[in-house]
Amino acid sequence: MTGLFGGTFDPPHVGHVALARAALDHLRLDRLLVVPAGRTPGKRVASDPAVRVALAQAAFDGVPQAQVSRLDIDRPQPAYSFETVRWARERWGDVIFLVGADRFADFLTWERPNEVLRYARLGVATRPGFDRDRLAGVLAAVERPDQVQFFEIPPVAVSSTDVRRRVAAGEPIEGLVPPGVERLIHDLGLYRNQRRAPVH
Ligand code: ATP
Repeated sequence: MTGLFGGTFDPPHVGHVALARAALDHLRLDRLLVVPAGRTPGKRVASDPAVRVALAQAAFDGVPQAQVSRLDIDRPQPAYSFETVRWARERWGDVIFLVGADRFADFLTWERPNEVLRYARLGVATRPGFDRDRLAGVLAAVERPDQVQFFEIPPVAVSSTDVRRRVAAGEPIEGLVPPGVERLIHDLGLYRNQRRAPVH
């Protein structure tokens, strides 16, 4: 089984790494591909793809089974997830696409969600005590709810938005991102002159 973990990763943080590690612990994965997004419709992307790939490589350096892939960056844009999983399935067979519960909550707004579930399982990371009933509406609306699998991750209260905001405000980000990511953010001077991040 190949795990695919997509995200903007602007920047990747310890919550992303925790999700990847939990997936490797709980799901039987032969490999885990970390797939930074190219252009994400509806989401502002501050950093160049090449920068986000370098950040992701630094972030997942300590996870031997994880490999950063330019799959979504090098394809014609927008590179939708249903195409990513279709391609991955042709190449590797069984595929599980990993998302946080927040992304699953808006799953029905994705491009062709039912096609995503036709080609791949969806691994949804939840936190201990998470109310699964909240996601029942999404499950009830998809054609293949049997393709959705939940797994628990330890709660890690950090988001990329939070990290960008802290850097812009001159606040420390130690412990919120892996050390290699912190170094790159510093060396490349990323996120220093952020406009106020949009609320989403
Ligand atoms: P932003 O703050 O810019 O919206 P983000 O922190 O949500 O970014 P993304 O790159 O958009 O990061 O997220 C990629 C994936 O990681 C999504 O599936 C999201 O649900 C998941 N994720 C993000 N933060 C966490 C976290 N703290 N714990 C677990 N999963 C997370």
